[in-house]
Amino acid sequence: FLKGKTALITGSTSGIGLAYAKALAAEGANVMINGFGDEAAIEAERAALQETSGGKALYDGADMTKPELIAALVQRCHDELGGPDIVINNAGIQYVAKIEEFPTEKWDAIIAINLSSAFHMMHAAVPYMKEAGWGRIISTASAHSLVASPNKAAYVAAKHGLAGLTKTVALETATFGITANCISPGYVWTPLVEHQIPDTMKARGLTREQVINDVLLDAQPTKEFVTSEQVAALALFLCRGEAKSITGANLSVDGGWTA
Ligand code: NAD
Repeated sequence: FLKGKTALITGSTSGIGLAYAKALAAEGANVMINGFGDEAAIEAERAALQETSGGKALYDGADMTKPELIAALVQRCHDELGGPDIVINNAGIQYVAKIEEFPTEKWDAIIAINLSSAFHMMHAAVPYMKEAGWGRIISTASAHSLVASPNKAAYVAAKHGLAGLTKTVALETATFGITANCISPGYVWTPLVEHQIPDTMKARGLTREQVINDVLLDAQPTKEFVTSEQVAALALFLCRGEAKSITGANLSVDGGWTA
């Protein structure tokens, strides 16, 4: 149902972002993927996405800490694929440390990638969506856009900010056929979660098993990790015509965490 539409997904070389790209391409959308990683692996993903969609798939390695590269990414998407009709603000990083030990450069990087990049994306993409009279903006927030956890000052601040930013854009675009929503997953088993285990072990003096069972899944009543595919399925629904009245929402996919 997305044939002829173009989706630009930040941070889509891995994890949830890659799952969004696969789900949208499977519905025929052109996709622009973005993020870091092994060049050959990214090219293989890009080629597979293009094959699945029957349209086009491109890769752009724009660093989400660089506003000028974000503007260029949106422009390139418009020039080479059209749109963007669907923008998914998804790039994100995590860092775990006590407030008094939290490195300033990690604070700055998390605010830039997890929050400010979404501003720069929407700033550049909304004019094209208004012109087209149709648009879907989805921000991957987090359960941490609704509640806090210790040792995640920058992440929790950025995700609360992203939720507010997305709501604001929803109000500004409501009469233009555009919707803007957050999807807020609980713990999804991706490299981002896997990589924070050693730091959490250190910060809290716990074993790997204790971090997985007593810290991560402790918050999640289902006692199961969410999957990237479950998150992507909700994004796909938000792109449907039936979802046109869902805007300014922050939709939890968190196994009951924030209940
Ligand atoms: P991931 O590490 O698998 O993917 C992150 C992606 O962002 C990768 O493609 C990476 O290359 C890209 N990226 C990182 N820094 C970048 C930069 N400076 N410029 C461009 N791209 C950059 O992680 P994930 O778990 O799939 O996370 C995706 C999003 O989902 C993030 O915003 C994260 O905060 C959010 N989220 C994840 C979970 C979870 O449990 N995994 C839960 C809630 C929210």
